[in-house]
Amino acid sequence: AVAAKATDLTKVYGDGETKVVALDHVSVEFRQAEYTAIMGPSGSGKSTLMHCMAGLDSVSGGSARIGDTELTGLGDKRLTQLRRDRIGFIFQSFNLLPTLNALENIRLPMDIAGRKPDAEWLDRVIGTVGLGDRLKHRPAQLSGGQQQRVAVARALAGQPDIIFGDEPTGNLDSRAGAEVLGFLRNSVRELGQTVVMVTHDPVAAGYADRVVFLADGRVVDDMANPTAESVL
Ligand code: ADP
Ligand code: ADP
Repeated sequence: AVAAKATDLTKVYGDGETKVVALDHVSVEFRQAEYTAIMGPSGSGKSTLMHCMAGLDSVSGGSARIGDTELTGLGDKRLTQLRRDRIGFIFQSFNLLPTLNALENIRLPMDIAGRKPDAEWLDRVIGTVGLGDRLKHRPAQLSGGQQQRVAVARALAGQPDIIFGDEPTGNLDSRAGAEVLGFLRNSVRELGQTVVMVTHDPVAAGYADRVVFLADGRVVDDMANPTAESVL
């Protein structure tokens, strides 16, 4: 199944002399239970692609779909709802609330949305996160790697159709980064989640099943990563 799909997606910023074509007819599919890395030089359109697919940025042309929902033309209210219910985000800065413990942070988006988490799913996510007795600790009492695990678990908790990550290990040292990336990949395997991760770190991309390369707003390569299994 296809979790998200861009078709001839075009994004233009500015006009006249300031015009920048950030995405130039990009077509790409993100399949369910697949972990995709998006790579490319700075300014190649990686963040723009992610923002357009996640409904954070409007598109100039073409189509962006999450599952079978077309994002172009959705009003702000429906977009907000779609992001909340069907998309998970993992950022470079973990964005955890300092006054809540790990478990409360994991549950927070659903609490805000007034959604009751699927108890069995939540148990599996919490089991996967591997924080054991640290679930009652606040972020300041956790290492950077542990905090990012909490942020990943928070993104997984609502069973989103797709999770977007923007350099999720950019602020971690290499050991903590490897731990989070391994955890993310195993979560995709065990829970069947779909992850799209923007990165310019080849080590991070090494954990992905597939790598999509952008250059100048176009897809220039799209390849399976046969060694994803052997990393760690
Ligand atoms: P990447 O994530 O690969 O570094 P971006 O998607 O951030 O690339 O940017 C792609 C291009 O679009 C760049 O030329 C960038 O300067 C331009 N761009 C991105 N966001 C904006 C914006 N809000 N306004 C104008 N230009 C932008
Ligand atoms: P990254 O490539 O790591 O996403 P950037 O510095 O390219 O970081 O972009 C950071 C933010 O600034 C993004 O939200 C992007 O949309 C915006 N941005 C990038 N380039 C421009 C630009 N030329 N003009 C205005 N905003 C921009």
